[in-house]
Amino acid sequence: MASIKVLVAHSNVQNIDDALAKLTKLNSKQGPFDALFMLGDLHNSIKEIHTDGLPPTFYPSYNDDVTNTSTDLENHVTLLNNFGIYQLATGLKVVYTPHNFKQLDDRKELILQKLEMFNEKVDILISHIGGSKHSKEAGRNSGSDIIDAILRKVEPKYHFSYNDQLKYYENAPFQWKKSGRITRCMNIPVFGSKEKWAYAVLIELDDNESAYEVPPNIGSNPFEESKQNKRGREAKYTTDIKVNPFTKETQMKKPKIVLPNQCHFCFTNPNIEDHMFISINKNSYLTTAKGPLSVPKDEMPFSGHCLIIPIKHIPKISQSKTQEELLELNKELNDYELSIARMNFIKYDMSTIVFEISSSTSFHFHKQVIPVPKYLIFNFSSALDRQLYFNNEKFKLNGNLNFKQYTVGSSEYNDIVNDKNIEYMQFKVYETSEEQPIVYLSTFLTGEKIDLQFGRRVIAYVLRYPKRIMWNSPTCQQTKEQEIEDVKKFQSGYKNYDISN
Ligand SMILES: [Zn+2]
Repeated sequence: MASIKVLVAHSNVQNIDDALAKLTKLNSKQGPFDALFMLGDLHNSIKEIHTDGLPPTFYPSYNDDVTNTSTDLENHVTLLNNFGIYQLATGLKVVYTPHNFKQLDDRKELILQKLEMFNEKVDILISHIGGSKHSKEAGRNSGSDIIDAILRKVEPKYHFSYNDQLKYYENAPFQWKKSGRITRCMNIPVFGSKEKWAYAVLIELDDNESAYEVPPNIGSNPFEESKQNKRGREAKYTTDIKVNPFTKETQMKKPKIVLPNQCHFCFTNPNIEDHMFISINKNSYLTTAKGPLSVPKDEMPFSGHCLIIPIKHIPKISQSKTQEELLELNKELNDYELSIARMNFIKYDMSTIVFEISSSTSFHFHKQVIPVPKYLIFNFSSALDRQLYFNNEKFKLNGNLNFKQYTVGSSEYNDIVNDKNIEYMQFKVYETSEEQPIVYLSTFLTGEKIDLQFGRRVIAYVLRYPKRIMWNSPTCQQTKEQEIEDVKKFQSGYKNYDISN
């Protein structure tokens, strides 16, 4: 479970002393770092460089002897020569190619042949030239297909290139379907460019589950063009956030109107996936989740991840036509919720988390219900804090969330959830089904950009399933047969608790 603190910087020969002086300061202030990767055409001047106050330093360097892939100099300085793979004492793995365009071209066959032999994924790729796909995405024509081939093979967590001396740019992170790994590509300009020439990052090694955490600003993988997923129940969720490749900003599309006959949750939609229905009542129904987050366990032979959905096509319960309708619907949804929490607790010895978003820009309100082993439920508030930190501090384009605890039924709580002008996001944590759940609720402003995957992100972290954050990831996909089987098992476990009986 190691994470490695890495510094990546770019300098030319003329300014190297000043650059290193700055990095020494940075190392004492924000460090100590475990490694410094020094980019630039520096290899001829390295022997005179002093290294006091710097972490172990690595210089990608080019020479004529292609068989020579690394050289240890004195004072913890290592040259990473030509093209190779190198593992640091900390376990961090790096692939490097300091070749410029001409050198890449001259050695193309050699590099591709050698690449064939690499049979592991790495943490960092350092290349002089950027990949061609990402250079294009960033509005440049200066990338190389050879770098693309390396990227595809080693799936680095970070790819640092340094061909553009003047501009820092970074592409939206993307995920590799099969492995679930996340890759971030960026260009580091030179010291003196007035842009971000030094990049500090904490890299989680592969044995750390948060290495696979999907960030909210995830973009599409340019190497794996995704096909439209027609079966997507939560399709709207993932297409709502678009990444602009030039500004890297994630933007909400204008709210689109989903008519009931196209709505995944409406009975009037001829394509509704009714093989996933568990139970139908007067005003609402229960269905299993597409690409479920939780998985069958010894104590519970089915996923248990389900959705409680009003039959009416409304974005929030508080938009019911009359107060009576509102109360009746609310009661039924809560009865469903409690009946599942009871089954989970009494029959399977599990706790339960219920997540919902009440927003006038949603299309069809629903609650997500997920069983959680009792020994993990205590992680909830720290998981929430952690994801809040990412949401509020790291991804500042997301609206700020601020959760407070409430008691179900208190007037303070009712005033919020029954007010149709208030938008909110809520978790209910049923440690047992005997006591009132603890409610964590955050309001937000209408139209404010919120991370619709936030709930799933938090609960995935509680469950320690970092690879199951995205409902449509290959890990979470089920065949129709598996879905039918899951429903059967759910119904058989639920029959003595079902409120529609
Ligand atoms: Zn609907």
